[in-house]
Amino acid sequence: MTPGRVALKVDCDTDEGTREGVPRLLSILEARGIRATFFFTLGPDRSGLAIRRIFTRKGFLRKMLRSRAASLYGWRTMLSGTLLPAPMIGERRAGAMRAAAKAGHATGVHGWDHVRWHDRLDAMSAEEIREDYGRAHAEYLRIFGIPARASAAPGWTANARSLEAQEERSLLFASDTRAGSYFFPEAGGRVFRTLEIPTTLPTLDETLAWPDLKTDADRRAYFRRAARGTQVHTIHAEVEGRSKAGLFEGILDDWLADGVAFPLLSDLAREVLAHHDLIPVRSLTTTTLPGRAGTVATGWPEAAGAA
Ligand SMILES: [Zn+2]
Repeated sequence: MTPGRVALKVDCDTDEGTREGVPRLLSILEARGIRATFFFTLGPDRSGLAIRRIFTRKGFLRKMLRSRAASLYGWRTMLSGTLLPAPMIGERRAGAMRAAAKAGHATGVHGWDHVRWHDRLDAMSAEEIREDYGRAHAEYLRIFGIPARASAAPGWTANARSLEAQEERSLLFASDTRAGSYFFPEAGGRVFRTLEIPTTLPTLDETLAWPDLKTDADRRAYFRRAARGTQVHTIHAEVEGRSKAGLFEGILDDWLADGVAFPLLSDLAREVLAHHDLIPVRSLTTTTLPGRAGTVATGWPEAAGAA
């Protein structure tokens, strides 16, 4: 069997994850000679508001208890923006963000206010979305000195209005969706020309809720088998960079032993865009995923259940 390729996408959602998780991930990746693409949330960390979902979203409490969210994410993160004031992540953690770029990793935008976007996108007007997205890009420009060429929607939450805001930037690609292959999204009667590269593998935190994977050894075996063909794997600075760092290192070592390669998402984008005519147009819709509360955006709903 030819070894697969796994593009690592690192979502940094919180202040604590960016402060602690990013440096930890940088050393884990450097020790193995692996490059990844880091997406940074740049505005207020209101992740403590996620607690609100206990009351507003069916299944969230069950998931929290099953995944032991507090030990996974840390109490400080759970309380940020509720009992503790919401820290501005870009202002406080620019150093950790620049360190990722300096170490040779690719970087992009993962939103301004992650919690608001994830919970409220469909209730936000086109103007509110453009402003939120624009603030994230302005802060990225301030920190890195060059405009972002890629973005990843918080919580894989996207709609026609968010794609419109995205289309106004000259991005090389976006990674807003789950499952399937690359595509140009169609939404609200418009075909967008920003290439979409979906996350294809389940996230580690999703697999923690799968009843058939009982131990970390089961999870390592699952991810080892899953690295066939070309895959995009999203990890979280809050999870793989903190409480699950050891398990993540095991997964990487299995992949390295099998000869898996780690292209950047921008490498995949350039490969695909070289054959522009072959990129399919797919309708943007939503789906659910095993182990994840709520819905996520997808262009390939038929592929979402296959994980
Ligand atoms: Zn995120």
